Amino acid sequence: MDENRGLLIGRMQPVHNGHISVIQETLKEVDELIIGIGSAEKSHTDSNPFTGGERILMLTKALREHKIDPSRYYIIPLEDIACNSLWVGHVKMLTPPFCRVYSGNSLVQQLFEEDNMKVVQPPLFNRTIYSGTEVRRRMLNNENWEELLPKSVVNVIKEIKGVERIRKLHKKEVSELVRKK
Ligand code: NAD
Repeated sequence: MDENRGLLIGRMQPVHNGHISVIQETLKEVDELIIGIGSAEKSHTDSNPFTGGERILMLTKALREHKIDPSRYYIIPLEDIACNSLWVGHVKMLTPPFCRVYSGNSLVQQLFEEDNMKVVQPPLFNRTIYSGTEVRRRMLNNENWEELLPKSVVNVIKEIKGVERIRKLHKKEVSELVRKK
């Protein structure tokens, strides 16, 4: 029997307060948590602006800011693969053994359930604002995005000039759309 170790996967584009709350809540139920950074190979697009490495940095700093004991979690980058039916095996190959999966994503839930894994749907915290889509929307529209993120993540985004990147990417995607018309 595996230890009481859980798995939570998220794209975390970027890491926000909802991710930290769900990690804190999940750590009340498991001894150790594997946090998979999904779509780790993706970056520099409208919906995936940050690299896997940048998201590892954001998460490491945010968990430290929230004083979460580092001996209780593992952060593992997970690249996407073309075949959904093989994805659970791919994730298992790259992670320590786990006995439960925590996810609000219906495809993730379905794929692990079909593999006979126990899947738990964690509660959502203020999902209308604590969502990557909302954070990126606010960044584009010059609205207050900082309040949705841990301070340490705000600092990482400033260090890597993340808002400037998102605005440039968006401008490029809009001008490509106009050119195609
Ligand atoms: P996400 O960052 O949107 O969310 C991650 C998790 O955080 C969610 O499951 C949810 O439980 C939690 N969460 C988010 N906002 C919250 C809030 N406000 N309050 C509480 N909890 C909150 O990431 P995601 O889209 O779920 O990530 C799934 C990843 O799995 C993606 O990277 C996807 O590409 C990958 N995937 C890959 C394949 C494949 O490669 N074939 C197949 C399935 C899934």
